[in-house]
Amino acid sequence: MATYHANGSVRGSCGHQHKSAAAAERCRQRDADACGRLGGGAYSDRKVERLDGRPLSQSEMAEIEAVQSERDGW
Ligand SMILES: [Zn+2]
Repeated sequence: MATYHANGSVRGSCGHQHKSAAAAERCRQRDADACGRLGGGAYSDRKVERLDGRPLSQSEMAEIEAVQSERDGW
Protein backbone atom coordinates (compact mmCIF):
# COMPACT_ATOMS: atom_id res chain seq x y z
CA MET A 1 0.00 0.00 0.00
CA ALA A 2 1.57 3.26 -1.12
CA THR A 3 1.69 6.25 1.18
CA TYR A 4 1.88 9.88 0.11
CA HIS A 5 2.94 13.26 1.36
CA ALA A 6 2.88 16.85 0.12
CA ASN A 7 6.44 17.91 -0.51
CA GLY A 8 8.22 20.98 -1.87
CA SER A 9 11.79 22.24 -1.94
CA VAL A 10 10.85 25.48 -0.14
CA ARG A 11 8.09 24.30 2.18
CA GLY A 12 9.47 20.82 2.80
CA SER A 13 7.39 17.75 3.48
CA CYS A 14 4.11 17.96 5.36
CA GLY A 15 5.50 15.12 7.50
CA HIS A 16 2.42 12.91 7.17
CA GLN A 17 1.98 9.48 5.68
CA HIS A 18 -1.28 9.90 3.81
CA LYS A 19 -2.97 6.69 2.80
CA SER A 20 -4.32 8.11 -0.45
CA ALA A 21 -3.19 10.61 -3.04
CA ALA A 22 -6.48 12.45 -2.51
CA ALA A 23 -5.77 12.93 1.20
CA ALA A 24 -2.30 14.26 0.42
CA GLU A 25 -3.82 16.68 -2.09
CA ARG A 26 -6.27 18.01 0.52
CA CYS A 27 -3.33 18.48 2.90
CA ARG A 28 -1.42 20.34 0.16
CA GLN A 29 -4.39 22.62 -0.47
CA ARG A 30 -4.61 23.51 3.22
CA ASP A 31 -0.95 24.47 3.15
CA ALA A 32 -1.44 26.51 -0.03
CA ASP A 33 -4.40 28.31 1.60
CA ALA A 34 -2.30 29.10 4.68
CA CYS A 35 0.45 30.51 2.47
CA GLY A 36 -2.04 32.54 0.45
CA ARG A 37 -3.35 34.19 3.62
CA LEU A 38 0.15 35.47 4.38
CA GLY A 39 -0.12 37.76 1.35
CA GLY A 40 2.84 39.23 -0.47
CA GLY A 41 2.63 36.55 -3.13
CA ALA A 42 3.55 33.78 -0.70
CA TYR A 43 2.62 30.38 -2.01
CA SER A 44 3.27 26.73 -1.30
CA ASP A 45 5.49 24.84 -3.71
CA ARG A 46 4.39 21.50 -2.33
CA LYS A 47 3.26 18.75 -4.65
CA VAL A 48 1.81 15.37 -3.88
CA GLU A 49 4.48 12.68 -3.98
CA ARG A 50 4.73 9.03 -3.07
CA LEU A 51 6.85 8.37 -0.02
CA ASP A 52 8.57 5.52 -1.87
CA GLY A 53 9.78 8.03 -4.48
CA ARG A 54 8.02 6.32 -7.38
CA PRO A 55 6.16 8.50 -9.89
CA LEU A 56 2.41 8.90 -9.47
CA SER A 57 0.34 6.49 -11.54
CA GLN A 58 -2.46 7.58 -13.86
CA SER A 59 -5.08 6.58 -11.29
CA GLU A 60 -3.29 8.50 -8.52
CA MET A 61 -3.14 11.60 -10.70
CA ALA A 62 -6.83 11.15 -11.50
CA GLU A 63 -7.58 11.05 -7.75
CA ILE A 64 -5.73 14.34 -7.27
CA GLU A 65 -7.54 15.93 -10.20
CA ALA A 66 -10.86 14.81 -8.76
CA VAL A 67 -10.06 16.60 -5.48
CA GLN A 68 -9.02 19.71 -7.40
CA SER A 69 -12.22 19.80 -9.47
CA GLU A 70 -14.31 19.25 -6.32
CA ARG A 71 -12.73 22.39 -4.96
CA ASP A 72 -13.40 24.40 -8.13
CA GLY A 73 -17.10 23.71 -7.56
CA TRP A 74 -17.13 25.65 -4.27
ZN1 LIG B 1 0.08 15.98 4.95
